[in-house]
Amino acid sequence: MKFLTEYRNSEWVKQSLSAIEKATTKRWNIMEICGGQTHSLVKNGLLELLPENIGMIHGPGCPVCVTPASLIDKAVSLMEQDVVLCSFGDMLRVPGSEKSLLEAKAEGGRLQMLYSPLEAVQLAKENPDKQIVFFAVGFETTAPSNALSVVQSSKLGLDNFSLLVSQVLVIPAMESILDDPYCNVNAFLGAGHVCSITGYKDYRPLAEKYKVPIVVSGFEPAELLLAIHRVVLQLEQGRHEVENCYERIVCVDGNAHAKKIMEEVFETGAQEWRGIGIIPDSGLVIKEKYKNFDAVKKFSLKDSKKHIKNQCVAGEILRGVKKPKECPEFGKNCNPSHPLGAPMVSSEGACAAYYNYV
Ligand code: SF4
Repeated sequence: MKFLTEYRNSEWVKQSLSAIEKATTKRWNIMEICGGQTHSLVKNGLLELLPENIGMIHGPGCPVCVTPASLIDKAVSLMEQDVVLCSFGDMLRVPGSEKSLLEAKAEGGRLQMLYSPLEAVQLAKENPDKQIVFFAVGFETTAPSNALSVVQSSKLGLDNFSLLVSQVLVIPAMESILDDPYCNVNAFLGAGHVCSITGYKDYRPLAEKYKVPIVVSGFEPAELLLAIHRVVLQLEQGRHEVENCYERIVCVDGNAHAKKIMEEVFETGAQEWRGIGIIPDSGLVIKEKYKNFDAVKKFSLKDSKKHIKNQCVAGEILRGVKKPKECPEFGKNCNPSHPLGAPMVSSEGACAAYYNYV
């Protein structure tokens, strides 16, 4: 397949590995932000092929993994109020403090799996007697379509559609990781699909402030290795610049239309991250102008005070402090059929990637 097989070319992979080996003179720890990149590194065996001195640290860029249990609890409480909760399929088995969406459905809750928030708008249009809530989860990649669903609903005058929002932002998360006293990250691979929306110029102040190279990367083996090579060259030469190794998708300013619709509906606000806690200005919240489409306000949803009682160390996994196999539950009480934490549920979660491929 064009634009895919060439990025899996074994000759390119060998050349990049050899270039990384030649350029590396000391230990460097590189965090890939995105769960899709983690998955590709693990699935393609790149962690074993990289030189010993290159340590890949898996970051918090799996949206399912970072959605807090308190938000799942809110979604469950909506289902118990006879609301139709619509969600992407990957959220269905993520544990809340007491139950997942799928378990709530088994108890009689109304749950609809969809592929787009615009399908939920259509559902609301066709069912004016039902309240439809879309679970709007994700990084900057999903925010434009979620924003569009609000604008469309507003134009249609729908009063039975709203969003339960858990939109997270990459740059504040990177800053929080760099501020952590246990941080041992020397450089980042930037998340390619997020940068396709945001562009990458906003990373420059971060690279400058913390003196860390940031190289935007794609997801195929040859792309990841090219980006790692560029990171290593910067580290070895004492540079800390923002580079783009995903030029086939990403441009410096990102997607102007997508950013405009995000800004129309959302503004930044404090956001809770699963296992990490609240990071200021790390999320998107619905603006006052569209408050009628905010399910938390519409249904007066309160924060749950319940806590998950198990030994899941998802927070340490998501901050890159621990690797999945260092969790005492990994492969014992926790596996993809019986996940104790979100990183084992999601196909982009580091624990699921290690379970399936390492
Ligand atoms: S292996 Fe399971 S319990 Fe351990 S951190 Fe991962 S998801 Fe949580």
